Formats: sequence, structure tokens, C-alpha cells
Amino acid sequence: MRAHPAGPLHGNITPPTAAGAPPEELGALDPHVWPRSAERIGGELHLGGLPVTELARTHGTPLFVLDEGDFRSRAGDFADAFDGADVHYASKAFLCGQVARWIADDGLHLDACSGNELSLALAAGFPAERIALHGNNKSLVELQLAVDAGIGHVVVDSFDEIDRLVPLGAARVAAGGSPVPVLIRATVGIEAHTHEFIATAHEDQKFGFSLSTGDALAAARRVVSEPGLHLAGLHSHIGSQIFDTAGFEAAAHRIVGLLGAVREATGQTLEELNLGGGFGIAYLSEDDPVSPSDIAAKLRTVIASECAELGLPVPRLAVEPGRAIAGPGTVTLYEIGTIKPVRLGASGAPGTPLVRNYVSVDGGMSDNIRTALYDASYTCVLANRSSDAPPALCRVVGKHCESGDILVRDLWLPSDVQPGDLLAVAATGAYCWSMASNYNYLLKPPVVAVREGAATEIVRRQTLSDVFALDAVLADLPAPSPAPSQPAPEHAVGVRS
Ligand SMILES: *Cc1c(COP(=O)(O)O)cnc(C)c1O
Repeated sequence: MRAHPAGPLHGNITPPTAAGAPPEELGALDPHVWPRSAERIGGELHLGGLPVTELARTHGTPLFVLDEGDFRSRAGDFADAFDGADVHYASKAFLCGQVARWIADDGLHLDACSGNELSLALAAGFPAERIALHGNNKSLVELQLAVDAGIGHVVVDSFDEIDRLVPLGAARVAAGGSPVPVLIRATVGIEAHTHEFIATAHEDQKFGFSLSTGDALAAARRVVSEPGLHLAGLHSHIGSQIFDTAGFEAAAHRIVGLLGAVREATGQTLEELNLGGGFGIAYLSEDDPVSPSDIAAKLRTVIASECAELGLPVPRLAVEPGRAIAGPGTVTLYEIGTIKPVRLGASGAPGTPLVRNYVSVDGGMSDNIRTALYDASYTCVLANRSSDAPPALCRVVGKHCESGDILVRDLWLPSDVQPGDLLAVAATGAYCWSMASNYNYLLKPPVVAVREGAATEIVRRQTLSDVFALDAVLADLPAPSPAPSQPAPEHAVGVRS
């Protein structure tokens, strides 16, 4: 469903409520959804052993709070489950220098989707041979960077890209280096999302080489014919936020078929099969993702049986979880500002509340675009205290000049929430900070890693000076006084009873 440009009320397309019945315990922290260290102590949410009021007071709001133990243990869960395979962290979910170092120290590989993600990882000291570069429009400069750094794989996505890469590989070989290792990204005609997947004969999208048209096989032949390139394997990525492994099994069937076709056409037995990412997480209590060990067992079984059928040796497996590592361990803290009850009018069905409370917070679509962009679902709780007040139907919105600026579309909050309270939105670690913008000149929030009672700002808050520095007129003026963003004022926290 898309928001009406004039706003949902004018469009009259929003049902009165999709929130369902109020939960038994408002503000409960479902361990399925909240970071592994999340707990309430004296009613207040604690993360990594620290009370959220203290985090808000020290670092301001909006604030991304990243539970380091959660992030690293999820990376470790994938590494353990896929022992003997390569686990690539899909860094576009969330990347900064500290995250690159954790991923490096914990022995995983890393995927970059642009030259700048690659540069960041290299600058943080990430081992080049454990990096793969993705992208449907890699420039010559990006490819040169990848080749010069000696990264593990370039995942080639088009014939144009092969044309750009061939002279770079040839030059490297001429200089005594080894051929550039590449994977062919094949689009296998499987598109998976949450519980459904669709299998089609053709692919109408921008990524990869189509299997059904023969382009994927033609690309493999082309790469094999180039002495500057080494065809290491095949790649497929079928979607995101996937709960059901059937789509991966269908994709594995088709991609192993391509392995067989490549061997037949070129005589080469490829050593690696990368099945991409897209493993789902729980944003809501009712979401039911598959565990890394179940995914690993299913994929190993299906690959082994497909390979046996074609008489192929089982290739080295690789996967690329992004969301499933970064998503669940991070919470966004906001301070509540304006609360506006809006009468829903005659469209309210019998028995549904006729008032929706628009609870405005001090961030919004600039720090979490996913609700507006994908109609994503989030949950949140009153974080600085607990409350026994009866539930009220709420919609959590940002402060942007845009009626689609919604963070949590429908949920129940205690009816005594008030300006100055802190709200925590769960599972915001993936595709929130990394998609953040400066819309309305709001400033990108900091990311604070918490662990065993200690907090480290791993990305600082953007300042107005940072933003003015890009502006031809404003850059040379004296630095502006601190942005109206916030350490939360004293009165805001923990004083209500
Ligand atoms: C985005 C992406 C991923 C990661 O997807 P998640 O849903 O975050 O797991 C993995 N591989 C490729 C090629 C991608 O584009």
C-alpha cells in the first residue's frame, strides 16, 4: 500500500486500525524482537547494561544504540552454522570502521556494493582477499580500485562490466599478477520475499545475467576465454526478509544446473557457489525467521543432492547475510514531542477506536525510510519507564514535512505517554542509518555501541557545521551554534510516576 500524496486521511485509503487487539502487557520486550541484552530494570529499558535515559542524556536523540554482543553473536551464529563455507557480511545493511573491524576480527568476509563501501572497508584495515564487490553499474574507477587492492571476488553483473574488467585483468597478468577472480551473478528467475516466492522464466530487473536467455552461460564462456580473468564461481541473490527456505532451494536447483551447463560448455568445474543473502528477521512478535543452522542444513542438503544428480563435486558454499546480522541488535531512541489525537471520523468500523494518537518524535524518515519506502513494520515501546495506563491506539510519526513520514503505522502505547518520554523502536540496525538522509536538513544520528555497561560512540552525530561545509555560501561563515538537536533535557527522563 502506498501513502496518498495528499496524506492518508485525504486519500481515505488507510483502514481505521491494523493494530489488532492491545497486547496483554504493553511495553513487554519480546526477546524474539529486541536485542539480546535488552531488559527492563525498575521499569526502564536497559541496553548493554546501560539505562536508556543515561544514553539519551549523554548522546542526545535520535540515537542508534547498537548492542555489540548481539551483532557479533549473530555474525558468530552464521559463521558456526556455515562452518566450512564463506559467510560474507553484506555491509550495505550497516557499515562503519568499527563494524568492519568486528567482521574482520571475527573471521567473516565482507560484501561491498560500491567503491566507497570498498574504500571504507580497506581504510579500516579489512583484508582485501576477504572482500567481494557487487553492483550493477561498477565504474572503471571502482573496478580499478578492486583490482589494485586484490579483493577476493568481483561479482560481475553485465557484459559492459566484463568489457571494463578485461583490460584491467590483462594488465595485472602482464605485470606478473594473477588473473582477477570473478563470480558471475545469475538471475535465476526466483524472487523471494517473506513467505512467498515466485518462480518465473524471465527476470525483468536490473541485476545480473539471465539464466533463461542464455546470457549467464554466455558470460561464463566470455570470462573463461579471457586470460586476465579467473571464473571462480556463480552467484545468485533472490530477495530479502525471507522466512521460507523453499525459494533458496528452488534457486539452488537452477544455479547448480548452470554449474553443470558451464562445465559442459567450457570444461571448467567451478569451485564456488554463492547463494546470496536475504535471511529474514523478526520485526514483530509474530514474525518467525529461520535460524542460521536450519538455513545452513537445508542449503547443504539441496546443493549436495543437486550436485550428485549432475555428477558434480560439491562446490564451496558462500552466503551473504546483511539484515540478519545487523538488524536485530540495534534500537533507535527518540524523544516524544507533540502528541495529537486525530478523530478518524465515520470510517471507523463498529468497535474500533475513533481516535488515533499521532505521536511525533524528533527524527523520522531521514533516519528510517523503510516504513515509507517499503511499508515495513516496526514495533516500539515506551522506554524510560513502564506504565499501567490503559492502551491507546497510536501512530508514531517523524518531524518531516511529509505525511508519509511514518515510523510505526499502528500500535498500542500507554495512554499516559507524554512529551519528553523516550520511545525505543526495535530492530533498526539494518538499512536505517545506512539509508539516512539530510531531508529537511535534519542531521544524521550517532551510533553508540553498548556492551557490559560501557558505551562507545562508533559514529558521531552529524553537525550543522558538517552540512554547512558543503554549501558554497555558508562554508566560510563562522560555525553555527550547536544544532537544536539535543541532549535530552533533564525534565524529560525518568521523573514521571
Ligand atoms: C542486499 C544484498 C545482500 C544482503 O541482503 P539482506 O537482506 O540484508 O541479507 C546480499 N547479497 C546481495 C547481492 C545483496 O544485494
